[in-house]
Amino acid sequence: MSDLIQSDFGINETETEREGGLFLGVDVGGTNMKLGLVHPAEGVIARSATSTRQFRTPAGAFQVACDFAHRELNRIGLSADELNGVGVAVPGILDRSTGILKTVSNLPDWEGQPLHEAAENVFSVPTCLINDANAAAYGEYRFQPSRGTGLVMLTLGTGIGSGVIVEGEPLHGDGGCAGEVGHVVIDPTPEARLCCCGKRGHLEAYAGANGILTTAREKLKDTIDSELAWQARSGLMTPKTIAECAEKGDSIAQEVIAETAGYLGIAIAFLGQILNPSTILLGGAMNFGGSESETGRAFLQLVQMAAEKHALEEVLAQMSIDFAALGNDAGVLGAALLSARQSTRPTCSSTNNV
Ligand SMILES: [Zn+2]
Repeated sequence: MSDLIQSDFGINETETEREGGLFLGVDVGGTNMKLGLVHPAEGVIARSATSTRQFRTPAGAFQVACDFAHRELNRIGLSADELNGVGVAVPGILDRSTGILKTVSNLPDWEGQPLHEAAENVFSVPTCLINDANAAAYGEYRFQPSRGTGLVMLTLGTGIGSGVIVEGEPLHGDGGCAGEVGHVVIDPTPEARLCCCGKRGHLEAYAGANGILTTAREKLKDTIDSELAWQARSGLMTPKTIAECAEKGDSIAQEVIAETAGYLGIAIAFLGQILNPSTILLGGAMNFGGSESETGRAFLQLVQMAAEKHALEEVLAQMSIDFAALGNDAGVLGAALLSARQSTRPTCSSTNNV
């Protein structure tokens, strides 16, 4: 974004945002709905989370989010009028022309619902809907020290999501499914693993949580006398326990992590060649301990090495790969900041351009 300026708090903001006001970020997940009251210069100033499953309709969820915003505004001595906009991040494929979620496996009750209309009815302020991976990527993009205008954030979990920022803008795609990196092909052979989407050889089948467990089981086939082998037989093995075993020196666990890093490196090299971003971030819980552990740091290094094996030097020269920094705040921050800028750049505020 050409009009970004660096605030004292590390968040890049626009001149319009600097004029003030507070914004609500709502990050709707299959399990939890995260809420954050956001000041464009200060970041998340109040946060909360609640179970998504208790809501029978999106309107019910939005009402709880609205009550949270008003309660927090009241707590700091401000009126409800100080809420200037709401950004709602949702999983799945969003039809931006109608504000309707087309496909969302973990929120079946929300599929086909007119979310934009429901949100504006409840909040009575301009509302912006965005895919959750893009919201998280935008939050990280706005928070990072200015490096460039391109960023890709891979969210590693049961599946592999990704949010893509190109020239400072979230990339949606004409059908709302740009950046479905989990479903790029990394093995085109007929015997490649079956992905949850029904097709074969996709990244998610190798580097998603179940893919990692499959890799581990394959490697443990002839092993009986290790803690990891016992976990696998008992159904207790998870990516987290694999990381713990690797930390204790288990060579098979370390091999599983290295192989997973290799798959991610291939996908990152693809992304680098196509988008030439300055920043690739690894977010999500399945990071083998992340920057806090030796195993997590080794995993990151292996991902970097794998990307270096496949991408052009010119692409690698200015592309950093790191762990995401904001954790659970990324989605609410990104959604709120996208709603904050809609007065100057209406990319997501109206029903015609959600
Ligand atoms: Zn797939």
